[in-house]
Amino acid sequence: MKVGIIGTGYVGLPTGVGLAELGHDVVCIDKDIAKIKTLQSGKATLYEEGLDELLQKNFSNNKIKFTTSMEEGIKGADVVLLAVGTPPHPVTKEADLQYIFAAAEELAEYLTGYTVVAVKSTVPVGTGDKVETLIKKTNPTADVDIISVPEFLREGYAVKDFFNPDRIVIGSNTERAKKVMAELYSYFADKTEILYVNRRSSETIKYASNAFLAVKIHYINEMANFCEQTGADINEVAKGMGLDKRIGNRFLNAGPGYGGSCFPKDTMAMAYIARQYGVNMSIIENVIKENANRKKQMAHRILETISDIPQARIAVLGLAFKEGTDDCRESPAMDIINELLAHGATITAYDPQAMENAKKILGEKISYAPDAYSATEKADALAILTEWPEFKSLNLNKVSICMKNKNIVDCRNMLNKEQAVALGFNYSCIGYDYHVASKYLKQVA
Ligand code: NAD
Repeated sequence: MKVGIIGTGYVGLPTGVGLAELGHDVVCIDKDIAKIKTLQSGKATLYEEGLDELLQKNFSNNKIKFTTSMEEGIKGADVVLLAVGTPPHPVTKEADLQYIFAAAEELAEYLTGYTVVAVKSTVPVGTGDKVETLIKKTNPTADVDIISVPEFLREGYAVKDFFNPDRIVIGSNTERAKKVMAELYSYFADKTEILYVNRRSSETIKYASNAFLAVKIHYINEMANFCEQTGADINEVAKGMGLDKRIGNRFLNAGPGYGGSCFPKDTMAMAYIARQYGVNMSIIENVIKENANRKKQMAHRILETISDIPQARIAVLGLAFKEGTDDCRESPAMDIINELLAHGATITAYDPQAMENAKKILGEKISYAPDAYSATEKADALAILTEWPEFKSLNLNKVSICMKNKNIVDCRNMLNKEQAVALGFNYSCIGYDYHVASKYLKQVA
C-alpha cells in the first residue's frame, strides 16, 4: 500500500520505517528542512535502538522516501498518517492542535481517490470530527474517511514496539476505512489484538491509558515515601505487588517522578478535557500536582547532602527522561537540575545519548563531561537521574577516587547499596533507607 506520513518525529519516523519494512511504500513528509535533508542522506534524526539500520536498509531499497513536499507525499496515498506534535498550550495546558489542523488543511488539497486519513497523534476526544470538517471544507469533493489510530510505542523501544505492539486500536466510524486499515496492519493479524472501536473511544483510550500509567508511577513513588518512613523496602514491596497479575510488575519502579513528551502533557490535557465536560478527575489532577512536587523534593534530597559544603559541585548522570532515548522533553533531570542551579550548585553532567538535546534546553548553565567518570571528577555529590544500564555497572572504586566528597543520591535505585556503603559513600536511594527507618523505629519503641 502507499502510505504518506506527516511528521518525522519520535512517532512518525519509527512508524514509517516499520511500515516500509513490512513492504509498504512509504513517503515521510516534514516541514523541518534540516530533518528531511539528514533523512534523505539515509541517516536517522533521533536515537532509537535498531532504527538506523532499518532506515538505511529500506531507504536503499526505495521503500521509504523523505520530502518536504506535501503534494509528493499525499498524492496517490491509500493511507495518510498524521503524526505531528500536540504540545501543551502554554497557558491552559490543553493539547494545542494547531499542527494537526494546519497539516489537515495542507494535505486536503492533494487527496486523490479514496484515502484514509488516520490521526496517530494524541488528540482530545472529538478532534477527528474537527479534522473531518476541515478537510471536507478545504476539499469538498475528497473521497476520504478520517479515523483515529493512537500510537502506544514507548520511546527507547520504538522499533521493538512497532513490531510487537500490545494492541492496535483503530477508531473508525466506517466499514471501508476498517478494511483498508486491516490490510495495512495485516502482518499483525495473527500476532496481536486489533481492536476496532468508534473514533471517540479510540481518542479516549490513548489519554485514559497514559493517565493510568502516570497514576501508577506516582502511586509507587508515594509508596516509596511510605517505605522510607517505616523501614520497608520499596523494591521488595513492588516485587510483591507486581506478582499479582491484576496489578502487573511494570511501571512499579520508584523514581524521581514521571516525565517525557507524553505523560506530563497527556495528563494535563486529559484533566483539561474533563474540566470542559464537567467531569471530576481528582486523581489525575492530584497526580499532576504531586509529580511536579516530587522533582523538587528530589533536588532538595540532593542539596541536603552538600548543605555544609560551600560552592559544592554536583555530578549528574542521566539527562534523558528515561533510558534508551535521547529525548529530554519534560525530563525529570531538567527540572531537578534547574532547581539545583537555583540553589547555587555547579553541575557537570553526562548522558550516553541525550547530551545534544539537553544542551538545547540547559545551554551553558551546566558543564558536560565526555563520560561518567569525568563527570564525577572533584564532585561533592553524585546524582543518578536516568536508568541507563551502563550506570548500573559503574566502578564505584573509581568513582570514589574521582570524587571530592563521597555523597551519592541514586534516584533510580541502580547501584549496589552495600558496596557503596562499604566504600565509605553516604548513599541514599529511593524507598529504602535504613537511617530514616531506624529513626522511625526508635520513635515507635
Ligand atoms: P515530534 O515533535 O517528535 O515530531 C513531530 C514532527 O511533526 C516534527 O518533526 C515537525 O516538524 C513535524 N510537523 C509539524 N507540523 C507539520 C506539518 N504541517 N507538516 C509536516 N510536518 C510537520 O512529535 P512526536 O514525539 O513524534 O509526537 C507526535 C504525536 O504522537 C504527539 O501527539 C504525541 O503525543 C504522540 N505520541 C508520542 C509518543 C512518543 O513516545 N513521543 C508516543 C505515543 C504518541
